Amino acid sequence: MAHKRNMQFRTETQKLLHLVIHSLYSNAEIFMRELLSNASDALDKLRFLMLSDKGLASENNDFRIKISVDKSGKTLTISDNGIGMTEDELVENLGTIARSGTGNFIESLKDAKDAPSLIGQFGVGFYSAFMVASNVAVITRKAGTEQAFRWESAGEGTFTIDPAERAERGTDIILTLKDDCQEYLEEYRIRSIVKKYSDFIEYPVQMDVEKSVPVEGKDDKYEKQIVNETLNSQKAIWMKRPAEITDEEYGEFYKHISHDYEKPFERIHYSAEGATEFNALLYLPSRMPFDLLMQGDRMRGVQLYVKRVFIMDDAEALMPRWLRFVKGVVDSSDLPLNVSREILQQDRILAKIKSNLVKKIIDSMKSRLESDRAGYTEFFRSLGSIIKEGVAIDYENRDKILDLLLFESTATKPGEYTTLEAYVSAMPADQKEIFVLTGDSRAELEKSPYLEAVRKKNFEVLFLTDPVDEWILPNMPQYKDKKFRSLSKGELPEGSDDEKKEQEKQKEDFKALVEWLGKRFEDRIKEVRVSSRLVTSPSCLVADEYDMGAHMEQLMKAMRQEVPKSKRILEVNPAHALVARLNGIHGDQAKAGLAGELADALYANAVIAEGGKLEDPVGFAEFFSRLLLEHADKG
Ligand code: ADP
Repeated sequence: MAHKRNMQFRTETQKLLHLVIHSLYSNAEIFMRELLSNASDALDKLRFLMLSDKGLASENNDFRIKISVDKSGKTLTISDNGIGMTEDELVENLGTIARSGTGNFIESLKDAKDAPSLIGQFGVGFYSAFMVASNVAVITRKAGTEQAFRWESAGEGTFTIDPAERAERGTDIILTLKDDCQEYLEEYRIRSIVKKYSDFIEYPVQMDVEKSVPVEGKDDKYEKQIVNETLNSQKAIWMKRPAEITDEEYGEFYKHISHDYEKPFERIHYSAEGATEFNALLYLPSRMPFDLLMQGDRMRGVQLYVKRVFIMDDAEALMPRWLRFVKGVVDSSDLPLNVSREILQQDRILAKIKSNLVKKIIDSMKSRLESDRAGYTEFFRSLGSIIKEGVAIDYENRDKILDLLLFESTATKPGEYTTLEAYVSAMPADQKEIFVLTGDSRAELEKSPYLEAVRKKNFEVLFLTDPVDEWILPNMPQYKDKKFRSLSKGELPEGSDDEKKEQEKQKEDFKALVEWLGKRFEDRIKEVRVSSRLVTSPSCLVADEYDMGAHMEQLMKAMRQEVPKSKRILEVNPAHALVARLNGIHGDQAKAGLAGELADALYANAVIAEGGKLEDPVGFAEFFSRLLLEHADKG
């Protein structure tokens, strides 16, 4: 057995090696994650075998991983006392890639354009060592055997295997670092990489570090000592059962991942079993997370782990955008470890996990809404505008998301909210639609002329005062078969038979006036109509059903967006004295001046009520002053 073997990597292994070294290079530090994860797997395997294999019963269970550096020799060594490998296993595991179809896969990667994204599908783990090492040696001794072996390669087509010595079971991976990779010998660098990727590995990852410690007996004197320190916290609390975790531990972990020192609003901890198996520990923050405000779009919310090994943080693949405030960890045992971001976007397993998580989060928000209305209201005030985005982007869950929304309405006190469910169940029999009004504030909307007619009928109207409401409204066609109807747009739904008859008659009575006004404001107005929505105001402007409303236009302008020009419809109130008067005189040549002034005033009134701007504010101001003066003269 004491012979030296020179061997060649299998062709496809060689190619893969080449690809790994060149395409993952920009993220070279992950080699540490890969090697630590292999070490952790080796310990898992041994621990598992010790349960059943009597031959291994006497092995110690002091499981650990050790990182050592030798600056003069430029080597970094990662050791574990796990299962180890036999000579055959060394050849099989490190000389070939024992996966069927690998060769074909690599063939198809020849032009290597999308290699970085595709390569992640394969467990290329060990080979990533060659990104930072000019030479890799593996000394390993299988648990339960006496003979150790040394595998060595410079990553260029060949490797050697020799018999070797090792005092106990386990594996050392010895990397001779390339000249431009000496940073991986620095303690702070190693610490930060371990923290970043491997903090929650179950076994201690240890390293000898130099520390200043007080000299015994002389408190003011310190001396340098080498201390064996554990670098990782080892706390994979998401893998434990909830009953084993204290509130305090949950709280600490939340701080650790969120950097939020307030208590979370809600935590969700469960493990899914069945077709896809994973553990999830998620937190909903109690207010808008700071990083969300700062970075706007970047999501650093839910971390993805595979078997306790950190994979990535920016987990768009796990959370839809509208839940980007959720923090936490998802740990899957079904995904390959070296899965890349691009692959994750399309991964079926991940898609399943995602939809499961979203359902859980929705359910938990709903139950808080039902059991703790005050708390939920606080939460919603802070994060509601993000949740609402879901209505526009998450079709699958739209109805459930609608159930999570809170709105002020004509029936709530200021600062209090209703839900769509409550709104619909309180609808009188003759109300067929859900009435909404968009604008900047409740105070402004309460005075809106658009409310007049529905108010008279005692229909409740939702106040949509959040800028995002305008964006989601077109995506809210209905809730529980009831259509949403914006009161500042389109025609109001028909009333009772009597009302219809009355409206027909008014249309007839004001036909000539409507035509005359239409001509006068031809260039500014799309159409003039006899209004059924006004009670006390003389006139108002409404947007056509599919045109952009006034509030939306203002929002767009505020964001410096191009606003498509759409003309309004002018509605006049047939029951208003001013309109009735104008109806009487507009045909009279002798009163043409007065009629013109009355018409302009009607129009100006409508523009101002809409919150719009007059085309000629100075002219209107002059006209208004003159009017007041006449009024004052009379009085
Ligand atoms: P993967 O871990 O995805 O299978 P790797 O290339 O990282 O791919 O490793 C190949 C194989 O080598 C592993 O499956 C394992 O059997 C073996 N191996 C790697 N590192 C160790 C180790 N530290 N101890 C024991 N076996 C190991």
